[in-house]
Amino acid sequence: MLTDYHLHLRPDEDETPAERHFTAENVERYLAAAAAAGIEELGASEHVYRFRQALDLWRHPLWVENARDDLDAYCEFLRGTPLRVGVECDYIPGAEEKTAALLESRDFDYVVGSVHFIGEGDAAVDHDGFDVWDGGDNAEEIWRRYFEALAACARSGLFDILAHPDLVKVWGRDRPAPAGDLRRFYEPAIEAIAESGIAVELSTAGLRKPVGELYPSRQFAELCIEAGAPFALSSDAHLPEQVGFEYDRALAFLDAIGVEEICVFEQRQRRLAPLGSRVG
Ligand SMILES: [Zn+2]
Ligand SMILES: [Zn+2]
Repeated sequence: MLTDYHLHLRPDEDETPAERHFTAENVERYLAAAAAAGIEELGASEHVYRFRQALDLWRHPLWVENARDDLDAYCEFLRGTPLRVGVECDYIPGAEEKTAALLESRDFDYVVGSVHFIGEGDAAVDHDGFDVWDGGDNAEEIWRRYFEALAACARSGLFDILAHPDLVKVWGRDRPAPAGDLRRFYEPAIEAIAESGIAVELSTAGLRKPVGELYPSRQFAELCIEAGAPFALSSDAHLPEQVGFEYDRALAFLDAIGVEEICVFEQRQRRLAPLGSRVG
């Protein structure tokens, strides 16, 4: 079994309206790409901030600008396709109850939980319009805050899959990681992963970013295995041609660390399936 669950039906850009991208023709493009790559299980997980309902959780300027679509119409559209129904939802501290209400009142197959924004205010680890690195904090402080937020995201119990677990490294050499052994940042998050039982995403998206690595690092992934966490496999595609992006490298990585099963989701129930091999 191969899956691609963390997947967007459109790029994160202006002028990508739902009516152009939430269409049978567009879904067909993603399904064809998945079939060519030997991926059996495909689901969409649009960013929550593109839906009007997300403004109940947070009114970040990026969200206010982008919250145009209707979440229920999106779920209904996906239910009429062969795709699993998912969403990528930010963990917003203090909005746990509202987040639970938003997620539980819809029939998702899985929810991908993300941390993009950290600390006070609007700053994000992966968005140069709201760049946390502009605030004068050093790498030590930013990494510490990021992994604390990731731990809270896991521990919230709101989500099925913990997205791109070491996203803070996205910029690579432009904003270098702190010196020394990175376990001091990972360990609080690993503890939360172990306690919550959340699945950890292995994402090939980092291979398309300046860092040029899978998320998470091998050290982080090995700590997840020690903690008993299962993995979910995704590309974080934003275009059909990114479905199963560089899965050869993801599969080699999983093989090297001894992972033989991946998570499969339906109606927010998880099971483990033997990890397949790419046939495309
Ligand atoms: Zn994300
Ligand atoms: Zn995403």
